[in-house]
Amino acid sequence: MAKHDAELVDETVAEQVRVYSRSEHTISRAQISENALKVLYRLQKEGHEAYLVGGCVRDLLLGREPKDFDVATDANPDEIKRIFRNCRIIGRRFRLAHVHFGRDVIEVATFRGDGNKQLNDLQVLDREGRLLRDNIYGTVEEDVWRRDFTVNALYYRLKDFAVLDYVGGMADLNSGTLKLIGDPETRLREDPVRMLRAVRFAVKLGFILDVECQKGIHSVVDQLSSIPSARLYDETLKLFMSGYALQTFEMLSHYGLFKILFPSTEKNLISKSGDAARKLVTRALQNSDDRIAEGKTVTAYFLFAALLWEPVQSRAKTLMAQGVGEYMAQQDAANEIIAKQVKSTALPRHITMAMREVWSFQSKLDVCVGSKPSRLITHPRFRAGYDFLLLRAETGSASPELAEWWGKYQSADETEQRAMTQPPRNGSATKPKRKYNKRKRTTPINSGTDTSEQ
Ligand code: ATP
Ligand code: MG
Repeated sequence: MAKHDAELVDETVAEQVRVYSRSEHTISRAQISENALKVLYRLQKEGHEAYLVGGCVRDLLLGREPKDFDVATDANPDEIKRIFRNCRIIGRRFRLAHVHFGRDVIEVATFRGDGNKQLNDLQVLDREGRLLRDNIYGTVEEDVWRRDFTVNALYYRLKDFAVLDYVGGMADLNSGTLKLIGDPETRLREDPVRMLRAVRFAVKLGFILDVECQKGIHSVVDQLSSIPSARLYDETLKLFMSGYALQTFEMLSHYGLFKILFPSTEKNLISKSGDAARKLVTRALQNSDDRIAEGKTVTAYFLFAALLWEPVQSRAKTLMAQGVGEYMAQQDAANEIIAKQVKSTALPRHITMAMREVWSFQSKLDVCVGSKPSRLITHPRFRAGYDFLLLRAETGSASPELAEWWGKYQSADETEQRAMTQPPRNGSATKPKRKYNKRKRTTPINSGTDTSEQ
């Protein structure tokens, strides 16, 4: 927010607040988690102001079940820590308190103040206008302007069960509009991750981005690459694992954000062989959305494996054309593509290991004779490897007969399995073993792996 805007806010904020009394909104105490209520009551008892704010208020007003409950208060992190024994302070950019109740965590944030009035070492902007630290505390009237979207800036006050609206969030909620608070471009520059949040909320809530927000994204899109890869990994998981992955992918692509998160995938999608890549990516995302809708789990490594499979295949092809053997070409291509990817979204080592296993399963599943199949199906990663084969078969990059064979093999009894894996009469295997060229490699075996440390 520009400085003169901030001064304006100070003068007019008292008149601007619209208080929705209990009878004017739909939130009832019964919908609020017991632990969140405990935190609110306790803070009040200690003489502090405390509100529910953010996604929980937004979702309750929309009749949706909140993912989590966030509290905002005038108590500072040290005071919060003194009040709750089960509390940990986290974050550097934003210091926050996590109050733990077993596995449930209530996030308690101290009201942010207005940094424009007192820019000092508690609030740090870089040359691009990015907010590196934001630990100036203030009042609820100031806090509201530090939030991202109007619909995320509604405060529920337990004292009188009222909802406080300083920025027209209720009207935007009713019209299904996602609007940034303050000057859109400035707010997106301060924290480019807000662009990803815009896409995530628009898709999840079925909202439209208001025109100014869209324009802001178009001018700030490149700034996303300045965000640390570890934070982008976390955001990517939220984007792709919340049940709306396909729509999210389409909207990210539309705004040019996808290419910053997945540069190798984007390059592949717009190449000559892009159609095959698109089929696999969209099918994987749709499958993942379907699984979530059915209450099944999805894993991050499977999604990353699907998003990066075609780039790995296309790099492996190039290496093979240069004379590298198939096995080494696959390994080297995987190393290179992972090394590139972790510059955008850090990938924890356990994720890259699982992705590699899924990928290397693909050539192993080519062999349908002898004792190998019986060993493969006991492997802990078999199911993921087989599901990946199905995905490839459905989208034309693996043989449907092979996928069907493995389907039958799994449901067969031992005798049938033995019969299925007998070599044909002439003695040759249905699929010859691959010949590996172990000597020729282009990159060291451990190059470009994981960045859990980033
Ligand atoms: P979700 O349903 O994903 O939890 P949410 O809106 O609650 O959505 P959180 O990440 O839990 O999102 O953040 C809680 C609130 O904190 C937001 O609603 C918003 O008011 C504020 N907030 C979070 N991240 C930012 C950000 N990057 N910039 C400004 N405000 C933010
Ligand atoms: Mg939340």
